[in-house]
Amino acid sequence: MSNLNVVPVSPHETAPRHVKLLILGSGPAGLAAALYAARAELAPVVISGTELGGQAALTFSIENYPGFPEGVGGAELGDLFQKQAERFGAQVEFDSAYNVDLSKRPFKVATDNGEIQADALIITTGASPIHLNIPGEQELTGKGVSYCGTCDGWFFKDKRVVVVGGGDSALEEGLFLTRYGSSVTLFHRRDSLRAGAVLQKRALEHPKMKFIWNTVLAEVVGNEKVEAVRTKNVQTGEESLFHTDGVFIFVGHTPNTKMFEGQLEMENGYIKVDDHMNTSVAGVYAAGEAADPHFRQVITSAGMGAAAAIEATHFLERETG
Ligand code: NAP
Repeated sequence: MSNLNVVPVSPHETAPRHVKLLILGSGPAGLAAALYAARAELAPVVISGTELGGQAALTFSIENYPGFPEGVGGAELGDLFQKQAERFGAQVEFDSAYNVDLSKRPFKVATDNGEIQADALIITTGASPIHLNIPGEQELTGKGVSYCGTCDGWFFKDKRVVVVGGGDSALEEGLFLTRYGSSVTLFHRRDSLRAGAVLQKRALEHPKMKFIWNTVLAEVVGNEKVEAVRTKNVQTGEESLFHTDGVFIFVGHTPNTKMFEGQLEMENGYIKVDDHMNTSVAGVYAAGEAADPHFRQVITSAGMGAAAAIEATHFLERETG
């Protein structure tokens, strides 16, 4: 996603700024919240986080967001969300929050560019990929180990790649990687896939995709770059060495909610919200994958973001007139 429209903020601001509504995160939930809040004339400020557009912006093609019968690029959709919110007065800032104080209003948020105080807060900090935590994985990240096919697939032109996982992400990204790789071999720990039927059919029928069942990765092997993976069949215990140039890992996500621990009620790391996106603190709302362990779709995240902004608007009308 381009960041041409992002407002630069001068570092070392000292006096805390005050805003009516602050939104943390710039994925579909954050930008949909920004659109609704901007149209309610709340002049929302969006702190983008390190991934402008969120995880959706890393997706090559989104085929299940209504209104785009031919599909739409993830980054392009994020750009459109952003432009639409900005048209009504939202301000998207390339900045990251690292600490919050939700004990009283205005809420205090420490960001890389200084402190911001906000009368209401919408948290849409999303989720990050889970790692396998096996030897070699961390050392070879960026040297053949990746968590984003859309971002890194190009580097594997005519190379052999391995994909790990059996969900929608693994299949969608695996299919994307067939554009580049000479072969895409998917390792799954069970003998049936979790992904939706359409993706399963497409992947299972793809001539470049191969499936190795009941098998996990035990190690990523290589010095300066990935050379192979050591695998283990979970039924027989048999270990093998499988030569590959790239390892793409899609084994789920964990919500980015650490900075809210102890301040908001959580469940398994996800921020607890009611059906109006209220968190356990009045005036603080959460939407998207930070609060949704179940649906995790662009459209459901955007819907939650819109709902959070509507509720925040009512809250601010009640509290501040
Ligand atoms: P997911 O559905 O949680 O799937 C994770 C996969 O990784 C599962 O197959 C799981 O195996 C496997 N796994 C987990 N831990 C593992 C480990 N330590 N070693 C080996 N394998 C491991 O995650 P996701 O695919 O990222 O999808 C997340 C959500 O986003 C889902 O709700 C999905 O529907 C949605 N999504 C939708 C689309 C789309 O609609 N186009 C695209 C991407 C994601 P088991 O199956 O054995 O548990």
